[in-house]
Amino acid sequence: MRFVIIGAGQAAAQAVATLASEGFSGSLTVVGEEPYPPYQRPPLSKAYMAGDFVRERLFLKPEAFYAESHCELRLGVTAAAIDRAAKTVTLSSGDTLAYDRLLFATGDRVRKLPCPGADLPGVYYLRGIDDSDALRRHLVAGKKLAVVGGGYIGLEVAAVVGKYGLHVTVVEAMDRLMVRSASPQVSEFYRKLHESHGVDIRLNQAVTAVEGKSWVEAVATGQGRIPADIVVAGIGVVPNCELALVAGLACDNGIVVDEFGATSDPDIFAAGDCTNHVSFHGKRVRLESVQNAIDQAKHAALAMLGKPTPYREVPWFWSDQYDIKLQIAGLVQPGDTAVVRGDPSTHKFSVFHLRDGIVAGVEAVNAAPDYIAGRRLIAARARVAPERIADTSVPAKQLG
Ligand code: FAD
Ligand code: ADP
Repeated sequence: MRFVIIGAGQAAAQAVATLASEGFSGSLTVVGEEPYPPYQRPPLSKAYMAGDFVRERLFLKPEAFYAESHCELRLGVTAAAIDRAAKTVTLSSGDTLAYDRLLFATGDRVRKLPCPGADLPGVYYLRGIDDSDALRRHLVAGKKLAVVGGGYIGLEVAAVVGKYGLHVTVVEAMDRLMVRSASPQVSEFYRKLHESHGVDIRLNQAVTAVEGKSWVEAVATGQGRIPADIVVAGIGVVPNCELALVAGLACDNGIVVDEFGATSDPDIFAAGDCTNHVSFHGKRVRLESVQNAIDQAKHAALAMLGKPTPYREVPWFWSDQYDIKLQIAGLVQPGDTAVVRGDPSTHKFSVFHLRDGIVAGVEAVNAAPDYIAGRRLIAARARVAPERIADTSVPAKQLG
């Protein structure tokens, strides 16, 4: 059997590990556009950017792992076309790889600012090692940094660069921070947290232009002009699914896969950020998380081996900002009932989310026991009374 994996990121590394542990003995090739073997991205906006994490630790596996797993890494090349009838992948180098089973682990790419001036030097994005390194070179005390987008990437960067002594302004189009995945209670906590560290948070303001002559000088919003020596845009990502789309695979905000990781072609699978899949709560989603990349890759690799098992894990995620760890489990929907446990002013609290009385999500701020309990309750679809959740005299592990 010849297996080919397109993309050499978090999901690809896990798929190789699962195939190896299952004793796969066929030929295995991983094609990666970036010149690096699979690495973890979370530290790029956290400890690595802060200078507290050596580069070697970013790599997910030691080099020997790939050789021991009989896996050939073809790095610095792009998979450019797929011929599903001939079962081949053509690379940007001109080489052609034949496959029996193919795995898409292509992740996503940053959304670029669509406004005038966005291509001026001094505008940065953050997805890979090179982006983080490039940005770090400009982290000099006294400089003014404008962060466009108050999502995880923008806020993690804002938290880290304070350490370097920059003046930071975060410009967010919506009326609260992290609107895509955090509750209003958690958003409000983070607004206050950042402001207490001197970050200027501007809500309800969309950046409509980047200004400057040969280097960025300011960002413009409907409400005015914010001077900036550097701009970092963290305005979301776009799934890399064009190759799959051109090959005729079903795509809809990601490559559509079933619960086993199979696409609309039974010999082609997909895992990680690039997929649109049925999640734990029974609805189709596209997730951007390490947990999803790892767990989905395990299931997809097993399905490639003819041992399909459904992907049903509870999603989880984390973010580090200053000395605060946010841990989230489950998927919150509009209409869920939020129950706050603890006092946000102590910097240690959580928000549980109930759907029809059943625990559907938890956001824990410096509250690991609540997070652990929440994950367990979500998996068990437990029904817990809101008063009990809110009662901090009940230990988290005794909830439910
Ligand atoms: P990726 O890791 O993006 O890998 C995909 C790879 O495929 C890329 O290297 C890409 O270049 C390559 N590729 C794409 N198309 C082709 C092609 N045609 N040919 C060859 N190669 C191709 N998640 C969390 O859970 N917690 C966090 O705290 C967190 N922090 C993050 C911080 C940053 C700065 C970033 C950028 C992401 C963070 N994430 C975090 C998200 C997490 O890193 C992703 O969810 C995870 O990397 C997804 O893995 P993946 O394998 O699907 O995609
Ligand atoms: P990321 O993963 O890059 O942090 P998110 O989707 O979590 O992405 O957050 C991106 C944020 O950027 C969203 O809250 C969105 O409202 C905001 N945003 C998008 N475009 C603009 C813009 N032009 N000006 C200000 N904020 C923007």
